[in-house]
Amino acid sequence: MHNAFAVPFGMSALQSTRKIWRNGEFIPWEDATVHVLSHVISCASAVWEGIRCYNTPLGPAIFRADRHMRRLVDSARIYRMELPWTATQLVEIARELVRVNDVSPCYIRPIVLRGYGSLGVYGGENPIDVYMACWPWGAYLGEDALARGVDVCVSSWNRMAPNTLPALAKCSANYMNSQLIRTEAMINGYHEGVALNVDGTVSEGSAENLFVVRDGRILTPPLAASPLEGITRETVIQLARDAGIEVAETEIPREMLYVADELFFTGTAAEISPIRSVDRIPIGSGKRGPITEMLQAEFLAIAAGERPDRYGWLTAVGVLEHAL
Ligand code: PMP
Repeated sequence: MHNAFAVPFGMSALQSTRKIWRNGEFIPWEDATVHVLSHVISCASAVWEGIRCYNTPLGPAIFRADRHMRRLVDSARIYRMELPWTATQLVEIARELVRVNDVSPCYIRPIVLRGYGSLGVYGGENPIDVYMACWPWGAYLGEDALARGVDVCVSSWNRMAPNTLPALAKCSANYMNSQLIRTEAMINGYHEGVALNVDGTVSEGSAENLFVVRDGRILTPPLAASPLEGITRETVIQLARDAGIEVAETEIPREMLYVADELFFTGTAAEISPIRSVDRIPIGSGKRGPITEMLQAEFLAIAAGERPDRYGWLTAVGVLEHAL
């Protein structure tokens, strides 16, 4: 039977690990459940992070752990959720989580949610529950994406407007907007969609920030165009400037995507993924461009501890059990 929702390439299933941290203790993976009438289920009242832990010659290390936990704390503050843990404590919990599960490389997911108690929209009387899980997770946009690039379309869905859901908060509710963008792209045979802001300029992918390379300069949409304030975005801006490349945060009209020399996505999951076509128009040579390749190499080498960590972006996890 024809399945209208079939996608052109497979997605990998979640791979469980041993323990999930919840409100101060480690519990078995399968016990980390929430009641169906928890506030978060009806209202998407949760904020979360996605963080990668890489293998380095000195053992596993979490990339930009402090920055991610700071964003989690900020997301909770925007929604007036009282988070009983500081960013510093959350970094320590993340390190312990990776050690307890003895898994690296991995992806770390802290979640702060409004729990069970009342179902009024306000939600403030519900408990705040904090979870943190980790599991192995490979290339987000497919195995080939990093070298060969991805095909994208401009989405018919806009990124949510700035005065609707605040884009600086990494809130579960935002991901319904992302889901519309990604799903439309995938059922039409693209890897990913690019959303325009409500003013018609480029915002970002469903889970990635977007960069344009044109005439040796790099452009990326400003935060006022409603992208998430991506940590890989910030990292890449720094690396590009260090390499002497001019970077501007500026409005990008849709058609500039078609005439770019290079385009790429950035994100914790997607890392730095070249974009090889937009709406079936090849970008540049249709292959990964030289500036994308240089930034990718620099980024991955720093994350893997192969080049000096000159900004202190890596937090060592400590020794894993299997290494003892
Ligand atoms: N935009 C959205 C909507 C995202 O979900 C993500 C992934 N967190 C990004 C951009 C990239 O952000 P980061 O580099 O911090 O992972």
